[in-house]
Amino acid sequence: MRKLSSATDPGTLASWIDGGYEGGDRALAAHARRVMLEEVGPSVHMRGLLEFSNECRCDCFYCGIRSSNGRANRFSLSVDEIERVALDCLASGFGSMTIQSGERRDEAFLEFVEHSLVRIKAATRCADLPDGLGITLCVGEQSRETFERFFEAGAHRYLLRIETSDPGLFRRLHPARQRFDRRVRALQDLKEIGYQVGTGVMIGIPGQDSTSLVRDIEFFHAIDADMIGMGPYIAADGTAAVEMERRGLRPEGSARERLTISLRMIAATRIALPDVNIAATTALQALSPTGREAGLAFGANVMMPIVTPQTNRQAYQLYDGKPCIDEDADACSSCTARRAAFVGRPVTYNQWGDAPHAIRVPKEAV
Ligand code: SAM
Repeated sequence: MRKLSSATDPGTLASWIDGGYEGGDRALAAHARRVMLEEVGPSVHMRGLLEFSNECRCDCFYCGIRSSNGRANRFSLSVDEIERVALDCLASGFGSMTIQSGERRDEAFLEFVEHSLVRIKAATRCADLPDGLGITLCVGEQSRETFERFFEAGAHRYLLRIETSDPGLFRRLHPARQRFDRRVRALQDLKEIGYQVGTGVMIGIPGQDSTSLVRDIEFFHAIDADMIGMGPYIAADGTAAVEMERRGLRPEGSARERLTISLRMIAATRIALPDVNIAATTALQALSPTGREAGLAFGANVMMPIVTPQTNRQAYQLYDGKPCIDEDADACSSCTARRAAFVGRPVTYNQWGDAPHAIRVPKEAV
């Protein structure tokens, strides 16, 4: 595995995550902010987050939309509905969209995603965005051929969290048929195809400590990630909660501690991997009303206001207390812009907002 630079050796990063940064967490946030300003600038990039289906073949023990949750009210938007949301994103000035769903691999689903991508691109080309909205796809592990199809159809970024880089921990949280090595292979395939690749982990999952979190940062580095999305693990309601309890899998630390560790992880990742995009995720806000602002203050530079139609939000309940369920897309976009302004950060409009890491010419090519 490629090693991080000596400026951010594993022992130092672990001590920061444990709260040992000299001067405390405010000083750690200030350090991350300096690195962020220098490497990616002050801007916050917005991606409208559309959760277009909660149908899922996976059974991740922790997740509210796992396949064995018989109580989940399953839904899938139509291509017309997806296109309408894309046009709303364009009208709001978002340069990019993230389109996310549960995982399916049947041909009908693959064709549906492909068709949706083509339609979004065709509908959103305009003077400000000659190539249409930037699209980040997040529809789980797929075959290399499928990733290639989606790339051809117009997705240029892909988000696939590794969830934890510790294979033993991964095994405890997933059924045996969901394999760690295949998830890693999928990330490598995405990179080789030419996607900008995003990954990330849940923070505070049972059995995780600062050493394993530092290995997560080393993993992001090793797979050459362009974007990172991390957030606290939050116990889900219903069958996921029962399954986790049955397996003796309880979150590490209180909600407050998990939020604190998540913020330190954002800062440590910003310092270790200065030029990537890092999201201030919705899950941060589930644990504190100002969790996303705190994420920005600790070095994040992307926000993803939810643009899922209000009637479907309740059904995309990944964990208990997921925020923004009663709001509509307009409310979410103005609220996230206000949150960015609150911490003194400008928002970029009508731009894709790719990470400098993704568009930088490798030194050896110069
Ligand atoms: N199926 C796609 C995939 O596997 O990448 C995307 C959908 S999946 C529901 C999106 C993310 O939700 C996961 O990567 C996971 O990190 C997060 N998630 C699921 N359950 C969670 C929970 N209980 N607490 C925090 N995050 C959770």
